[in-house]
Parts: sequence; structure tokens; C-alpha cells
Amino acid sequence: MRETTDILISGGGVAGLTAAAAFGSAGFRVILVDPTPPATTADADGADLRTTAFLQPSIPVLDGAGLWSRLLPHAAPLQIMRIIDAGGAEPVARLVKDFDASEISDAPFGWNLPNWLLRREMVARLAELPDVSFRPGVGFARMLVREAEALVTLTDGSQISARLVIGADGRASPVREALGIGVKTTRYGQKALAFSVSHNLPHGNVSTEVHRSGGPFTLVPLPDRGGKPASAVVWMETGPEVARLAALTVPEFEAEMTARSSGVLGPLSLITRRSVWPIISQIADRMSGTRTVLMAEAAHVVPPIGAQGLNMSLADLACLLSLVDNHRADPGAPAVTETYHRQRHLEAQARVTGIDLLNRASMAGSPAIRDLRAKALDALYGSRPVRQVLMRTGLGVR
Ligand SMILES: Cc1cc2nc3c(=O)[nH]c(=O)nc-3n(C[C@H](O)[C@H](O)[C@H](O)COP(=O)(O)OP(=O)(O)OC[C@H]3O[C@@H](n4cnc5c(N)ncnc54)[C@H](O)[C@@H]3O)c2cc1C
Repeated sequence: MRETTDILISGGGVAGLTAAAAFGSAGFRVILVDPTPPATTADADGADLRTTAFLQPSIPVLDGAGLWSRLLPHAAPLQIMRIIDAGGAEPVARLVKDFDASEISDAPFGWNLPNWLLRREMVARLAELPDVSFRPGVGFARMLVREAEALVTLTDGSQISARLVIGADGRASPVREALGIGVKTTRYGQKALAFSVSHNLPHGNVSTEVHRSGGPFTLVPLPDRGGKPASAVVWMETGPEVARLAALTVPEFEAEMTARSSGVLGPLSLITRRSVWPIISQIADRMSGTRTVLMAEAAHVVPPIGAQGLNMSLADLACLLSLVDNHRADPGAPAVTETYHRQRHLEAQARVTGIDLLNRASMAGSPAIRDLRAKALDALYGSRPVRQVLMRTGLGVR
């Protein structure tokens, strides 16, 4: 007999795992499939060494999914976002601007956690939910959508009838392909190195973006490691420059990254391996089809600036949860899928466009454009109302 479920989620990355916990906690029957089992320790093969800074609006979503109480003890708060322009003749800080969360809120901007640890806690949460079936090792293969159901065939040949299919299966989304939905992709010839460092100076819960050329060098606070202050780093550069940096010996790399950080935290010591991530912007032409929605990187990809990527994904999830809550008898009804597309697509497009502009400004190689960038930052920061609007926009709150 064919298995039935309320919701089938394709993709057990951080977005799909969170969605499964959220819909399972809300009382829906959920099946989550992913051909690649999650790596849940830092030293496992294929462990995701990036970190995610969850911004304020994401916290209620994680809380409702029964995840926040598990994650908070491992998180480092982000109270200040410091932007440094180091685009002058020498790679030193020539302009430093602090955006302090206390200007707009009693709470920090967000909290930072390693992605491998997110997966560990999320998988543990799913095991507590009787109506969630997580099937690592099995993937989405194809589907047939009808008015009343989506009939999904998995890679092991089994078939599932679902009211709603959620494509959370990444930037090359097989669900998006099955729906025939196109994407607009922008390539920058840019990559990111992601790794963690320790340092002698405390980070003081300040997240720092240093802009010179090639893209930002971002330090995001982590809880102390081995009794020393620690930070996660995302360092964006052109592809060839990232290849050169990734091949340096550890002492050579430490010297270069300390110089690129403008020395803001003193000498930096590498405490993880270096992982390399290609950087693109991408937006799907639509975020839903019959009985199907796309979320997270299946729908939109942005360069890692201002901690937007996964936070946009959790905004997708918050929107979907509230729509489905009003249609509990049929979570894949057109009123859900169509409204979801209308409510999320314009917002996602606007963020993809905004982050694309910020990334291009940060990549600037010409001294004249770097000077303009520094002037623009100075001017925007100088007005308190503008500064507050920028902070609220970055957070995704009004
Ligand atoms: C360097 C870097 C730093 C970042 N930092 C931040 C940050 O601080 N804050 C933030 O909000 N965002 C950040 N982001 C963005 C964030 O990491 C991504 O948005 C997020 O990891 C993407 O999650 P996802 O679940 O959409 O996709 P993925 O992690 O790509 O997951 C997709 C899943 O789908 C699975 N899949 C593939 N094929 C199939 C199939 N046939 N069937 C089922 N499953 C399938 C894959 O195995 C995979 O597990 C960063 C990104 C980068 C590159």
C-alpha cells in the first residue's frame, strides 16, 4: 500500500531539518528525505564548518520548532555589527562604524552557532517527534502532481502521496527541476573560505566585517574554545586568490589572515580546516507550483553578507507555517501555495538585489570606487534615523 503524509520535505540541510521540526511540532505528519546523511560532529567527513548567525526574527521560528532551548547554550550573542573600511593604500582600518543593537532593541542582533552542531541538535529534536520520519540515505527522484495530492517517487523506488511537498533541497533543487521552474543566476568569479580562529583579544560580542577588495572578511563571535576567545571567519576573494590562500601553509595563512583582518583581534590562529564555498546569487522564477513550495537555497541564494541566507529561509518557513495553520485540513491547497509565492517572492527578490549590490561594492578593486564606498558608509552611518532603518532592514523587522 502507498504511504501517505501531510508534508514531504526534500532536503535535510539546516533549512529542511528546521522545517521538519517546525511542522512536526505543529502536529503535522512529516517525511524528510535526503540522500546524504547529516554530519553531526566537527571532525566528521563532510562536516559543515560554517556557522550561522540567527537574527532576532528567526528565534520564534526555532522556538516553535522546539529547537531554541537546545541551541541557546551553544550560541554566542552578537551585540554590535562593526563595519571597517580598509580600502586605502595600506590594508589598515581607515573607517570604523559600530551598529549597536541597543539602538533599536533590548536584545542582541542575533546568535551564532556552528552548522554541524545545528544538525546534531536538529536531528536529536526530530527523534523526539513521533509524527516525523527522517530518512537519511533516500532522496527525491521524481513526482507527479495532481489536484488532490503530489505523488513522489523516492530514489529507493518507494512512493509517497503527500498533500504538500517542500523543496528545501539546495541551489540545484531536484524538486524545482521537476516543476520546470527556472532560475536567474549571477556569478561573481568569487569564492569564500570558511574556518574558525582563536585570538588573544576578546571579541566583546562584536561581529566585524572588514572591506578592502575581493569581498568582505567577516569575523563572527563564537563561545571560547580551549579557554581562548574564538571567532568564525568567512573570507571572500576571487576564485584564484582563494585557491592560493587555501594552499598556503598554516603559518603563512595565519600571517595573511591577520593582515587582512587589519589586526582588529590581534594575531589570529587557525583552529579548524579551511573549507571553500562558491559564491553566487540566484532566485527561482517562482516559489511554488501545484501542491509544492520551494524554500531556502532551492528558492534563493545570496552571498554571505549580513547573515541573510538562512534567515531569509526561516522567514520563508514562518510564512508557510502561518498559511498552513489556516488550512490544516489541506496544507497543500492552492490558497497556501499561491499565497506563499506572492508573500515571499518579492521580498526574496529585493534581498537578493540588495545583497548583490553590497557584494559588488565590497569586491571593488579600484581605489576611486573604494573611496566612494567609504564616503557612502560614513554618510549613511552619520544619520541616526538612516542608521536605525539600515539595522532594522538588515534584521528583517519594521
Ligand atoms: C560561507 C557561508 C557562510 C554563511 N553564513 C550564514 C550566516 O551566518 N547566516 C545565514 O543566515 N546564512 C548563512 N549562509 C547561508 C546558509 O549557510 C545557507 O542558506 C544554508 O546553509 C543553505 O541551507 P539549505 O538547507 O537551503 O541548503 P543545503 O545546505 O544545500 O541543503 C540542501 C540539502 O538537499 C539535499 N539534497 C540534494 N539532492 C536531494 C534529493 N534528490 N532529495 C533530497 N534531498 C536532496 C542535499 O543533500 C542537502 O543536504 C552562509 C553561506 C555560506 C556559503
